[in-house]
Amino acid sequence: MPIDGWLEALPGREDRSAGRHVADDVALFAGRDHPLLSTRTVRHHVSRLSAHLLAGDASGRSGSTGSSGSANPSRGMDDGLRRALVGYSLYTRQLDMVQDRATKRICRDGCERPPLGCCNRSHNVVFSLSDIMMQQPTGRALRMGDALARLQAEEGAHHAHGAPMGERGCPYLTATGCTLHLFKSPLCVHYLCPTVADALSAAHGPEAAPFVAGMRRAATRQLERSADFMEPGLIEAAVRMFATDGASGGTGGGSA
Ligand code: SF4
Ligand code: SF4
Repeated sequence: MPIDGWLEALPGREDRSAGRHVADDVALFAGRDHPLLSTRTVRHHVSRLSAHLLAGDASGRSGSTGSSGSANPSRGMDDGLRRALVGYSLYTRQLDMVQDRATKRICRDGCERPPLGCCNRSHNVVFSLSDIMMQQPTGRALRMGDALARLQAEEGAHHAHGAPMGERGCPYLTATGCTLHLFKSPLCVHYLCPTVADALSAAHGPEAAPFVAGMRRAATRQLERSADFMEPGLIEAAVRMFATDGASGGTGGGSA
């Protein structure tokens, strides 16, 4: 699984204080529902990513959107921001599984806008300058956007395996496709064009409607708070949509 390979490769902070924070994060997320992920996967994912964020690599030492950041290299990232990022990555990991099954094939074979599709130069951006002016996001939302930008760079470089990125369109696009699984922007990870929405409706009937509506709501929502980065109930809507395929058609059902 490429995501686990990247998580394994991340440098992390190993001291006793970091270990206590990581253990707290693992306990917190193990107590939450992740319909498409096994308990083992959640524990491994959280422990690797939390240790990395505590090491400070993505904690905002040089904020690109002008945020003050939580940077204190001796303490790593603060609990609230770290947990918002870990929660987002568990959500996007499940959405990536949903898209593996339901939409990536359509993008590969049926896109009406080849070769770039919707992967334009700004689709990966969390906050543009005008977003910041118009939406006036909270400090945590801004720092989350900064951290996501840095994590995108780390994740993209790992999955590109040295291939050129961003020759056309999005800076994380290679000749073989997208290099991001966990840290796509909220706009990108929720985007559904009419071709894909119609294909989902044709394949799954009325059960596709809540999932399509949730994706569209999330893709168009103004990001004011860190909670706005995710759509409540979206993964559960995908599970119900896939249930129309019958018992053999699960997305993995917690086996990831
Ligand atoms: S979402 Fe639509 S426009 Fe974007 S790559 Fe897929 S098929 Fe093409
Ligand atoms: S992050 Fe990936 S899917 Fe999103 S626009 Fe860039 S290349 Fe396309």
